[in-house]
Amino acid sequence: MNQTILIVEDEKEIADTLTYALASEGFTPIWVASVQAAQVALIENNVSLGVLDVGLPDGNGFELLKLIRQAGNEMPVIFLTARSEEIDRIVGLEIGADDYVVKPFSPREVVARVKVILKRMAKPADRPTNKPQRGAFEHKAEQRSVWYQDKNLDLTRAEYELMVTFIAQPNRVFSRRQLIEAIWSSNHPSDDRAIDTHIKTLRAKLKPLNPHKDFIVTHRGFGYSLEL
Ligand code: CA
Repeated sequence: MNQTILIVEDEKEIADTLTYALASEGFTPIWVASVQAAQVALIENNVSLGVLDVGLPDGNGFELLKLIRQAGNEMPVIFLTARSEEIDRIVGLEIGADDYVVKPFSPREVVARVKVILKRMAKPADRPTNKPQRGAFEHKAEQRSVWYQDKNLDLTRAEYELMVTFIAQPNRVFSRRQLIEAIWSSNHPSDDRAIDTHIKTLRAKLKPLNPHKDFIVTHRGFGYSLEL
C-alpha cells in the first residue's frame, strides 16, 4: 500500500532529505512550504500522515493542525521542532499531535516514527477490542495492577505508571520527556537518567516472564517502546 505523507517545511534542504528518506521506504511524499499550500494539498490528496514544521512563513504548524482538525481531518501528525518551548506545547497535548522530532534530526528517525504511528493506526481494525491477546499485558485499573498472563507484577509506582503508559500504546516510541510526564507531571524537574533507572529495574522484573524476549526496546536517541 502506497501511503501519502505530507511534508510541510519551508527549509528546502530538510524537505529534500525527508522526501528522499520517505520515498526510499515506499511512501509517497508530497512537499509544501506554507500553511496555505498545505491546506490545498490536503484537499487534493488522500494524505495518511502529516509531518509539520512549527515555524512556517505564513503561520505556524500549530495553527495548521488546528485548521486540519477543524476540517474534520483526524490524520496523525508529527511535528518538526527546533525549540524547547514548542516541545512543551506539543507534549502538553493541547495540540493533539501524535509525536514530535527535534531538529536537527536524521531523516531515518522521522521515517521510523512515521512507520510506528501508521502501524499503530492500522491495528485496532484487525483485532477485537477489550480482549487481551494471549501473552499480552493487561492493566487492571481498579486494582492499580498490571498482569502478564496470570501473574500480577510487583511494581513500584513509577514502574506501574510506565507500564500503564506503554500498554495503552504498544509499539509507540515514547521520549524520556513523555515518560517523565506520564509518571510525574509536566513540570517535574527530573532528568532523563531517572527514566533510564526506572526502565532498568522494570526490565529486570519483566525478564523472568520471557527470558527470550526484551519487552522494552531502546530506541537510541529517542526513548523506549513496549513490544508485544
Ligand atoms: Ca521553518
